Amino acid sequence: MRKFVAIHNLGCKVNAYETEVMAEKLIEAGYSVVSFEEKADYYVVNTCSVTNIADRKSRQMLHRAGKLNPDAVIIAVGCYVDTHGRDEVCLEGVDIALPNTEKGNIVEVIKAWEDSHRTEGEEAGSPGERAAYGEAIRSSGEEHHISGEGIYTRKFLKVQDGCNMFCSYCIIPYARGRIRSKRISDVIALISSLTEKGYREFVLTGIHLSSYGLDRPEDNEDLLKLIEEADKLPGVERLRLGSLEPRIVTKEFAERLKGVKSLCPHFHLSLQSGSDTVLKRMNRHYTTEEYLQSVEILRSYFDDPALTTDVITGFPGETEEEFKETYGFIERTGFYETHIFPYSRRRGTAADRMEGQLANSVKHERLKVLKALDSEKRKEYEDRHIGREAEVLFEDGNEGYTREYIRVKCPEGEIKSGEIHRGIITGRDVDGTPVFTLSS
Ligand code: SF4
Repeated sequence: MRKFVAIHNLGCKVNAYETEVMAEKLIEAGYSVVSFEEKADYYVVNTCSVTNIADRKSRQMLHRAGKLNPDAVIIAVGCYVDTHGRDEVCLEGVDIALPNTEKGNIVEVIKAWEDSHRTEGEEAGSPGERAAYGEAIRSSGEEHHISGEGIYTRKFLKVQDGCNMFCSYCIIPYARGRIRSKRISDVIALISSLTEKGYREFVLTGIHLSSYGLDRPEDNEDLLKLIEEADKLPGVERLRLGSLEPRIVTKEFAERLKGVKSLCPHFHLSLQSGSDTVLKRMNRHYTTEEYLQSVEILRSYFDDPALTTDVITGFPGETEEEFKETYGFIERTGFYETHIFPYSRRRGTAADRMEGQLANSVKHERLKVLKALDSEKRKEYEDRHIGREAEVLFEDGNEGYTREYIRVKCPEGEIKSGEIHRGIITGRDVDGTPVFTLSS
């Protein structure tokens, strides 16, 4: 009898990628992957532990799974297991806890569970039987449910794992270990097979993508080489990059990126604070001036690229003055999108031991102020694109993304998921979404 598995992803794009891989393996092994809201035999939560809030969300999803089907097997995988340990996680009603290093064995682990819990006379499932739901799993951002109905558009590819940077607030280097990169030949082989399945856009991601290749200097492989090789593949229409460390953006880097025809002019440069003194306490390895230089280089090589970033509010000791510096920096830089997070203490990090921990009310008040600024800046960027030509990769319901990652909707015709069209952004819908009109 076919078994149903529901998977929920939390956290970063690397997790999103690994969730897809788990889902694909399960489908290949004959399981049906269903939405997290449906009744399933197994619920898998790919957890995140980057902050205490992420921990809480991970616990909430695990509890929710237990409520959806009290007879189901609950499986926690990923960073929450790494940071809390299997024993502690299993005390919380979880049946199986797998650290990051064992995510790849999800099928074998479930099979072993079935073997050890099979009642007399019950037959094993039919391994190898393909699920009717299709092979591809859609991946769409930071938090999503996985269901087996494949839509061939964008594929996240994890090309690097681990981090050696040790930002003072971050547990990731402890949870994910030191940097490791996939070989260019392996990434290229994977992309080739995915283009054959119909994928058109590829997002190269990593925990610290800018460190790609640094773990294998003898192989002389770096991020630029990987991007250039991927660009040569037939069927690769778009390449997008995950978060970049600002210092990687030199003139030489931008010049070579400019030559990559499929590269989308959308760059996520992680900022975290617009105050040099806070950046120092965060153990980030750049100043605001260096950051700004990277922004200017990108703007000189690309025509109004979409620049996005992350910022933390209420880092230990952040004064009103330092917060104003961050506000001013975001205002002057003019990001398309700023993802803002209130600082969350993480046991075991240097920042957790710092004096001057701020009240949640202060962190949230500052977050609110930056969110208002972000809405203004986002609108400004989109408004600048009204009247301009754009190319859109469509997903569901006549909606899709431009190369700059502006989400648009097209009121005309019926456009299939995976189609790419050129046209003009002509205005905004009643709900504010930019409207795209196809070129005739
Ligand atoms: S760069 Fe800093 S924030 Fe990012 S994963 Fe590494 S230690 Fe964490």
